[in-house]
Amino acid sequence: MPRLTPADLAPLNKTLEERTPQELLSWAASIFGERLALLSAMQMAGSIVCHMIAEAKLKIPVLFVDTGVNFQETLDTRDRLINEQGLNVITLHPTMTMADQIQQRGILYLTPEGQKECCNMRKIQPLLTTAGKYDGIVGSLRRAEGGRRGGVPILAIDQDMKAVRVNVLANMTDEQMQEYLASNHVIVNPLHDQGFTTISCNRCTTPVLPSEPPRAGRWRHLGPWSAYCHINPTDRDAASSPGIDLDQDVLNRLFGRETDFAI
Ligand code: SF4
Repeated sequence: MPRLTPADLAPLNKTLEERTPQELLSWAASIFGERLALLSAMQMAGSIVCHMIAEAKLKIPVLFVDTGVNFQETLDTRDRLINEQGLNVITLHPTMTMADQIQQRGILYLTPEGQKECCNMRKIQPLLTTAGKYDGIVGSLRRAEGGRRGGVPILAIDQDMKAVRVNVLANMTDEQMQEYLASNHVIVNPLHDQGFTTISCNRCTTPVLPSEPPRAGRWRHLGPWSAYCHINPTDRDAASSPGIDLDQDVLNRLFGRETDFAI
C-alpha cells in the first residue's frame, strides 16, 4: 500500500492555510468519505466543530473517550449534541473502572510518570481501539492556545491511529472563536462558564484565575503547566514519523491527482 509521510504533507499544508474551518471540514469529508471522524473531549472548540458538522449536514461521527471520571457536565454536553444536533457520538471506554485501576495500580495521576500511564490507559488506549478504522481524524486544536499547540499544522500524521489528523481550527483566533459563539447556537460545556478554560477528567482539572495561563487548570498538582495527555500526537515531543499506509485512491484525492486512467 502507498505510504504518506510528513514530508508529503508539508506542501499540501501550505495550500490549505487560507481555507476556513468549514471549507477544511468539507474538503476532509470529500477526501476521506466515511473513513473520517471527529475527536472531541466536549470542550468549547470541539463543540464549535460539532456545530459546523451539524450545520453542513456532514455525516462525520464524533469520537468521545469517556474516561469514567469525566465531569457530569461533560457527559451532559455529549448527550445534548446527540439529542439536539443529531450527531452520531461514539463513546469509547477504558477497560478498567477507575476504582479497579486504583485498587490494582494505585492513584497514578498524582505523579508525572503515573499521569502518563493513567492517560494512556484511560484515554489513548480506548481511542486506539478504533485505529485503522478511519483515514482522517478531525481535531479542534488551535494555534492560539499557545504552548505545544502554537505551531500545530492543519494536517499531521497520526502514526498510532494510522490516520491523517485534520486540525480545522488551527488558524482560528480567540476573537474569531468568540464571534462564532456569539453568532451561532453552539452547545457549550457549562463548565467553561465556571472558570474552566480547558476540560478533562474531574481528578485532574480545575478552574483557572483570570491571571493564570489557560492550561493552569490541567494537572495543577503536577506543576508548571507542561503536562498533556498526548491523545493528540502533535502535543508530543517531536519524533520523526515513518508515515502511514493509505489506499492509493485516498492519496489521489488528497493530492488532487487524476484517477481516470488505466494502467
Ligand atoms: S486526566 Fe488524570 S484521571 Fe484522566 S486519564 Fe489523565 S491522569 Fe488519568
